[in-house]
Amino acid sequence: MAHLSLNKCMRNKITLNGVNKTHLYEKEINMFEEKKAEGKKMLVSRRQLLVGAGATVAFGAAASFLPKVVTNAAAATKTTVCKKYSFETPPAPIPASQIKTKKSADVVVLGAGLGGLCAAYAAADKGAKVVLLEKRKTFTFHGGWNASLDDRLHKSNNIVIPKDRWMAEIMRFGAYNANAKLIKLWLDEHGRIMNKILDMADAAKIKYFVDTNNKSYWPYTEYPSAIQFLPGWNYTLCGLLEKNIKEKGVDLLYETPAVQLIRKHKKGKVTGVVAKGKDGYVQVDAAKGVIICSGGYTNNREMLEKYSPRCLKITGNGYPEGSDTGDGILMGMWIGGAKQETDAPMLWDGFSTVPGGFRDSVVNLTRQPFLNVNLLGERYMNEDAPFGFTANQDMRQPESKKWTVWDANWDADKDKLHGTVCENMVKTPLWSNKDYEKFKNKGIIVEADTLEGLADNMKVPRDTFIATVKRYNQLVQKAVDDDFGKDSVKLTAIVKPPFGAGITGAGLLVTMDGLRINTDLQVLDTEGKPIPGLYAAGNASGDFFSNDYPITTTGVSHGRAYTFGWLAGEKAAELKG
Ligand SMILES: Cc1cc2nc3c(=O)[nH]c(=O)nc-3n(C[C@H](O)[C@H](O)[C@H](O)COP(=O)(O)OP(=O)(O)OC[C@H]3O[C@@H](n4cnc5c(N)ncnc54)[C@H](O)[C@@H]3O)c2cc1C
Repeated sequence: MAHLSLNKCMRNKITLNGVNKTHLYEKEINMFEEKKAEGKKMLVSRRQLLVGAGATVAFGAAASFLPKVVTNAAAATKTTVCKKYSFETPPAPIPASQIKTKKSADVVVLGAGLGGLCAAYAAADKGAKVVLLEKRKTFTFHGGWNASLDDRLHKSNNIVIPKDRWMAEIMRFGAYNANAKLIKLWLDEHGRIMNKILDMADAAKIKYFVDTNNKSYWPYTEYPSAIQFLPGWNYTLCGLLEKNIKEKGVDLLYETPAVQLIRKHKKGKVTGVVAKGKDGYVQVDAAKGVIICSGGYTNNREMLEKYSPRCLKITGNGYPEGSDTGDGILMGMWIGGAKQETDAPMLWDGFSTVPGGFRDSVVNLTRQPFLNVNLLGERYMNEDAPFGFTANQDMRQPESKKWTVWDANWDADKDKLHGTVCENMVKTPLWSNKDYEKFKNKGIIVEADTLEGLADNMKVPRDTFIATVKRYNQLVQKAVDDDFGKDSVKLTAIVKPPFGAGITGAGLLVTMDGLRINTDLQVLDTEGKPIPGLYAAGNASGDFFSNDYPITTTGVSHGRAYTFGWLAGEKAAELKG
């Protein structure tokens, strides 16, 4: 294959297939030299250029290679030479003299979210002595859809979800970057565990049901996988688990964040954790294992910058409590653990754009696939996509924001719209239309009797907006979305005043790319070998999701958390100390 070689002295030795072609790039070389002479910082030294560009560039890129090489070199220099993040330097071990309290357990669990609560319960249920460390004053819960296919509730309702389709769906969303064996593990084990959770709910007289409010439209299929617990959704579920772990004798320490894992020898076992209690450091020795369930890194800006830079464009964050700062992932990496290579953010398209964030999201109306326009008044996508995909598109727009536009027919239109995946929230108890006036007062929703007036209230350019609506109404008339391919059923005209619009931004719910694990839930080191005594589950673990969240397999983030947390608890408890 033809190659272009960049050697030490660029002026003398730019060769294509061994032939010196330096003269072809004389102009660019001179330009480079001039800029270098000006001392412009953005240009890298010749040596850095060579390092950043690498020694070999594909021949097809040769025609415009030099400016490109400079650009690439600058980018490569930025990431490979200059930037070192503070978390990349492991902290010095906390000296024994600073440990105020010592405890011992068979199993220590970090984090009282859904994953950690399940891990602690399962380990205690197997007879292990368990300590559960939590950073916050209470447990963490979010949402309420908990995926399951193979449980007694689905069976008694004759709801059958093909496992092969489910597997294919998760792999497809993840562009086949996930570890299919972990998804198989989930498929094989979750039903047994969900049945135990349902037993627990029955004993506490907690009601639950399968959400069957799904639909299938090309090109997506929604699966009726999610079980919800009433009345408080996952507040109910996590509260139930907390009650049960206390009854099992788990030592639950709130406001006690884990800060370091104890691994005395490079290839040895993890033997415990150091945490920070109110009165100083606490060392908890773990005879059998430590399970990291401390969630993702939604609130760690440096980690987002390194591992999922697209998330820096978000307008809101779904973990307002701020505790998901990647602690467990970092602690694992500091003692040799490896992180998933790709990112896996769960992005969401319905965030409020005003301070106050998530709770002010205009989900009822803006999550329907009405016409969407950016701050320039332009339409830019098929509005009927899974919410992570929509968020990706929103983040390509100015300020990552958009207006959803409707007309006086919105109430009649919304039922037929039923946007793809998790968007038919109009009828759910989680949010209600009574907030409409509140949103209007905050300027999140605007109204007008004319499209011109609406454009002014939205602060988008009038002419562009009017042209956008006109074009959209033409597509509605034709019943084919020639511009962005939206399902024709969801093309609804913007014709009848009064008109309305709501502004939202793309936000980050959680990150799901944590520490690499094997099917025994053991954390893997950078050579792919399990680290003895160390497990991870939930969002602190990795290789299950990639790129985006497969929302069509509804509730599978909670599905992974409860299943893998539970399995990790069982595996650690069963280990011989
Ligand atoms: C608004 C919202 C709605 C959602 N709805 C759904 C849904 O309906 N279905 C679904 O499947 N998914 C949903 N998700 C995602 C889902 O809630 C999470 O992916 C899942 O709960 C993760 O569980 P986890 O146990 O891994 O982590 P988390 O729930 O994040 O729990 C981690 C815990 O570890 C604690 N912790 C952190 N650091 C430390 C430390 N150093 N020491 C000790 N403790 C520590 C944290 O305080 C926290 O309590 C939603 C997310 C959001 C934000």
